[in-house]
Amino acid sequence: MSMFEDIPVEVGVIYEGERIRRKEMQVEFGGPNIEHKFELVRVKSPDEIEDGKITIIGPDIKDMPEGSSHPLGILVEVAGAQLESELEGVIERRIHEYCNFIEGIMHLNQRYDIWLRLSKKSYQKGLNSLVYIGKVLHKLFKSELPIIEKIQITFITDTERVKEPWKEALEIYEARDARARGLKDEEVDTFYGCTLCQSFAPTHVCIITPQRYSNCGAISWFDGRASARIDPKGPVFAIEKGELLDPVKGEYSGVNEMAKQKTLGEVTRVWLYSAFGHPHTSCGCFEGVAFYIPEVDGFGVVHRGYREPTVNGLPFSTLADSTAGGRQIDGFHGISIEYMRSPKFLQADGGWNRVVWMPFEVKERVKDFIPKEIVDKIATEKEANTIEELKKFLQEKGHPIVERWKTLPAEAKAIAVEEEAVEMPAEAPVATLPTLPITAGGFKIILKDAKIYAKKVIIRIEKPEKKG
Ligand code: SF4
Repeated sequence: MSMFEDIPVEVGVIYEGERIRRKEMQVEFGGPNIEHKFELVRVKSPDEIEDGKITIIGPDIKDMPEGSSHPLGILVEVAGAQLESELEGVIERRIHEYCNFIEGIMHLNQRYDIWLRLSKKSYQKGLNSLVYIGKVLHKLFKSELPIIEKIQITFITDTERVKEPWKEALEIYEARDARARGLKDEEVDTFYGCTLCQSFAPTHVCIITPQRYSNCGAISWFDGRASARIDPKGPVFAIEKGELLDPVKGEYSGVNEMAKQKTLGEVTRVWLYSAFGHPHTSCGCFEGVAFYIPEVDGFGVVHRGYREPTVNGLPFSTLADSTAGGRQIDGFHGISIEYMRSPKFLQADGGWNRVVWMPFEVKERVKDFIPKEIVDKIATEKEANTIEELKKFLQEKGHPIVERWKTLPAEAKAIAVEEEAVEMPAEAPVATLPTLPITAGGFKIILKDAKIYAKKVIIRIEKPEKKG
């Protein structure tokens, strides 16, 4: 692309989905070890913006030791006659897409969860300053979203100076989310869909309704509406919800149709408020995972920031691997934190009466939205770190799930799923096959002398289980 002549690496959609492992990385920003990280878009008046201005507050890439991790704030300020603050969320979500167009940059997640890595290879080609990333963002935002007339970008990497704007960003995210609360799915005719994550998960489509916030937690129904209005052919689009086929599970004919169309027939039904049957697909950017714990017939919930193993012994990363990829997997369900504040949260599966465990931090964040009679009956890591401890806690507290146990057939009370996650060394294939046929979209693809590499192998013994 000639418009990127002054950038030392290539820029294009082919670099989307590029993964950069730790040993290949020059530096990283944000991620699980760094507390202060955010990306934020603000709409300003034109006189407050100097178009094309890129500012770095703190050390630049070339000043950072190889292999180091740093805080990062990305503040994108935009102006334009048609811009309104309602668009901030969707413009912000494009930062993820555009950063991933840069050869050797990996951008994961959103808002206060961002994680960027720069590869050694691109650094050696000359990508040694955040200014280049700013220039790419400037050019892409202006060419892809012409309603942005002026844009300036600030990167904050200084450990102290990032703290205040980070706090302000958290307040702005909360104000955005709060705005979407109160409106009910039944009160609107149109939902919105988003396929921005199809580069990572080709069969994923987010269905964004007033009461089911997008998985990444970055796009509300209002954001979806604003985005579809200004860019109807873009990745966020309107869905006429059609006929309500099941009010409890949240199945709509229009949603099914659109899911089918956008996933090329892979997903034909979506139950918006259930983690079983035909659950909403999960890409990879979800803020949390609701995971079924067969031993207690309830759900655990874990958010991305939780570093310890969950109550079933599996950490977020393993649960996320089992959930991601645009699939519909019974009992592994990608969610946003805001969806947990919705009265429709897992409605078809029993809602909060079915939730048995979650990290203390996330419980604090959503506690005001958990029904009062159940809030103290949900365990956190402070009360239970094993299934045995959890069972005891639930019985002592009289969690409604205990009543459910009495009605379950004997075999459903047995352990339904046992699994073990094994970390694989990067260089070792997990399987080597002389021929590997893959059938997809009417084609049969045969791989000869295939070697399969995986970061992790999950071994699961499946036994009969009770669902729903
Ligand atoms: S998680 Fe969903 S809403 Fe968010 S960017 Fe991805 S597809 Fe869009």
